[in-house]
Amino acid sequence: MTPCAFEPRFYERAAQRHLAKLVGKPVFVNVRWGLTGAPATRGEIDAMLVRDGRVVPAEVKAHRVQVETAREVLAKYARLGFRELVVVAPEFTRAAVTLLGGSDAPKVEVVWFVPVLDEIAAFYASGWQTFVPGWVQEALATGGHHVRFLLTRPSTSGHLVIGQPRSRVYDTAMIARIIRRLPSPPARVLWTPQRFTIPRDLIARGSRVTALGGFVPVDIDGDRLHQAYHACQAGSAGGCEHCLRYALREYARLAAALPDAAWVGVVRSGGRGVHLYLRDGVGLRAWLLRTAREARIRIDVNVSVSAKATIALPGSLHAGTMLPVTPLERGQGVPIGSGARAC
Ligand SMILES: [Zn+2]
Repeated sequence: MTPCAFEPRFYERAAQRHLAKLVGKPVFVNVRWGLTGAPATRGEIDAMLVRDGRVVPAEVKAHRVQVETAREVLAKYARLGFRELVVVAPEFTRAAVTLLGGSDAPKVEVVWFVPVLDEIAAFYASGWQTFVPGWVQEALATGGHHVRFLLTRPSTSGHLVIGQPRSRVYDTAMIARIIRRLPSPPARVLWTPQRFTIPRDLIARGSRVTALGGFVPVDIDGDRLHQAYHACQAGSAGGCEHCLRYALREYARLAAALPDAAWVGVVRSGGRGVHLYLRDGVGLRAWLLRTAREARIRIDVNVSVSAKATIALPGSLHAGTMLPVTPLERGQGVPIGSGARAC
């Protein structure tokens, strides 16, 4: 029997949206909670609901909750001094339900939640290719890009990531065919913006593949920019709006600091920010990273520094928020244009 478990980040996002639906308004999510210390070192609360004037924390578990886990969760929230708690999971053992139900401090509401994976499969079964920008379609046609899939549920052998099963992927129709054969719908579809000699071997340990040029991705997450002021908010549909606003502001700073850069595309990540693409060139990575460091622009360095980095395929779905990774156009607060050129 497949264990009742989901990919943790996918399940957490889906559960946060479910809670927002239950209370009928957005909830605060991934809240750093504590009275002392820097925000980064404080414990995290998966979601916080405001109900009848009271703040109620929620703990999200992406797997079946057994009595040991239930005991740890109760101890954590008793220590933080909360009198009420919501625990969300796809399944609870009978002993865990008894323990949680018998708790007085905090008093616990148990929420059983199983995401509807058919909605994700339906997205990839019809017309999703129209979300994929032309420059991505052209890039895929070279057959040099690696595509991999982060599953919503672990496979029977326990894998959460599956690399492309064919030696080359040339178009979105081929990606759709691979998705239909996955053991569960993908939480994310990832690609390497860089082309490779042997793309399929990219995922293999110790593989020696040669990068052939392509795009350098830049990932800007809004939550890191605004978490010192306030936590992210999630509604029943989509992600945190504050994140997009902050990420776009940071992008505007980066675009101003790199006036000669060849920006190819700007997409909303579907999660907490934006992904930018620059056409690769000699010394570009070093120039980008140095400029960002000197101007103190908060980009995810890990994504830009490695030619082998993977990032969400534009046009694919962020299954946690159910938002497609879509291009942002001019006029959406995006400063693409001045000093920048599209290809
Ligand atoms: Zn946010």
